[in-house]
Amino acid sequence: MEYVIGIDLGTTNSCVAVVQNGVPTVLPNRQGYKTTPSMIAMTESKKRLVGHLAKRQSITNAEFTVYAAKRFIGRKWNSEQVRQIVKTTPYRVVEGPHGDVRIELRDRSYAVPEISAMVLAEMKAIAEEYVGQEVQKAVITVPAYFNDNQRQATKDAGTIAGLDVIRIINEPTAAALAYGFGRRFDKQIAVYDLGGGTFDISVLEMSSDGVFKVISTAGDTFLGGEDWDNRVIDWLVEGFSAEHGIDLRSDRMALQRLKDAAEKAKIELSGQRETEVNLPFIITSGRNEALHLQRVMTRADFERLTADLVQRTIDIVSETLDDAGIGKEEIEDVVLVGGMTRVPSVERAVAQLFGREPSKGVHPDEVVALGAAIQGAALVERGNKMILLDVTPHTLGVMVAGGMFEPLIPQNTTVPTSRTRTFTTSRDNQTAVKILVMQGENERAQDNELLGEFILDGLRKANAGSVEIDVTFEINADGIVSVTAKDLETQRDQTIIVAATSGLTKDEIRSMIDEGRRHAVDRKVGEEFEARKQETEQIIIEIEQLFAPVERVVGQSDFGRDALTRARGVVDRARQAILAKDQQQLKEHADSLSRTLRMFKGVVARM
Ligand code: AMP
Repeated sequence: MEYVIGIDLGTTNSCVAVVQNGVPTVLPNRQGYKTTPSMIAMTESKKRLVGHLAKRQSITNAEFTVYAAKRFIGRKWNSEQVRQIVKTTPYRVVEGPHGDVRIELRDRSYAVPEISAMVLAEMKAIAEEYVGQEVQKAVITVPAYFNDNQRQATKDAGTIAGLDVIRIINEPTAAALAYGFGRRFDKQIAVYDLGGGTFDISVLEMSSDGVFKVISTAGDTFLGGEDWDNRVIDWLVEGFSAEHGIDLRSDRMALQRLKDAAEKAKIELSGQRETEVNLPFIITSGRNEALHLQRVMTRADFERLTADLVQRTIDIVSETLDDAGIGKEEIEDVVLVGGMTRVPSVERAVAQLFGREPSKGVHPDEVVALGAAIQGAALVERGNKMILLDVTPHTLGVMVAGGMFEPLIPQNTTVPTSRTRTFTTSRDNQTAVKILVMQGENERAQDNELLGEFILDGLRKANAGSVEIDVTFEINADGIVSVTAKDLETQRDQTIIVAATSGLTKDEIRSMIDEGRRHAVDRKVGEEFEARKQETEQIIIEIEQLFAPVERVVGQSDFGRDALTRARGVVDRARQAILAKDQQQLKEHADSLSRTLRMFKGVVARM
């Protein structure tokens, strides 16, 4: 039995699903969770950590922990978006050899697809453990609004992870597939997808004969939960600065703790009306005093700080409906996707816009992976009648004289599709033509995304007049663009040289695959030790933060001094066990450490 796994490669979390005996199922990871943080880390001993293990140590190893790498995928180093995110990332981002983005982690720099590949390899491993056999084929989802570079880079990530990516599908489309699975109806629905880093809106037509047709799609690949988190961070940083005159952003570790606390506050405010952010010992003052951050945030505060972000998504939805000539009342159901749709003000705004309560039937975190698995099964299953007709989210075109953009395939055209255009050489003796292929909606070519420079080389020299060349631009079902050219007179196909503008060369991908394989072998080794080590380190940090206040309270008595010495001994022994990588010892020290922490907390509570 051949399985095709469906992977939702999210900005914040990723999820994997498979169809088994006709039932789509989300697969739990080793920790028992159905979603895995899209985070990877490199420890001091150059050990690679993925998912929960990476997340748990992110505060103490902020510089070498990568989160939200999806925001960089397929983007160029010199783009405005990259410039913006780099400002707030605690890990080091540098320019790569193709004007691409690289992330530096201890020993070397990694391409973004390589980082995503580590997450994908983890999802592959989760699936293999569950189904009990090797899995190779996968369907990976991307935001509908991803351009060709971003899709290609995601596909490369799959290849590096040892996967055969049989299809890239759009997240909202996947959600619609899961929503419509096993039901037969003719309906027009909207999928509102707000995740950790991206926003998408899609309108689809589902018919009872199994055809899913995307009518229109739009979005913003730079609008998501992280922006909401950043508003909370700004609010905390400004409040702290007003009180203490210290900028918390100057401290990497403080920033990482703030990031965690901001996301936690946001999530809590989905369920309760107020939440307290409490970060003891966040930074030390100029006079070497430990300072604490403690502030209550109400849901009303939060909604005020983020109202414009909610409105931005609503504006995009309204525009999309207008462009497609669809009235709000024609939408018969609204499916919410992405963790951020749990935010009450987001849900309220969507309900208000459409004049109806969104559908509650699907799980926003799991629905995309389920849809990908459903599509995967349909692609390999003989006799499956399900048909998915997606659209291209951006206009594809070329640069023409005067730096203008000439559209060839308009936005929202059903894919796969192709268009052919005839180019002519203009000068005598001209033997090459350079074509700049772009995606975007702007009239000026330079404002659109450059996909590649195609050089038609070795043309015949035209003795009189010019040579005509037919160039065919094709967008396949993955939304990926390719270009072929033909000399009309000789009917000879032309070789096209693609100058990489970003992304990776074939050789680079090949060597990354090899490296990924090597890593897969030792993946399991020491994972349990790592988990225990992280727990221990966390306790040690907490104990150490309390040494000073505890000493102030009990340091004057013999009994107190004795207790402090013993506590130091416990911490030292645990540290030695970590250094010696002695799992048994670590286990034995765990109890003493917990007791010490409880005792310290007890002392501080009575202060
Ligand atoms: P996704 O990319 O779909 O996994 O969505 C992740 C985003 O949803 C992150 O920004 C999370 O902080 C956010 N999120 C998850 N659960 C909740 C919740 N209960 N309330 C608010 N935001 C949430």
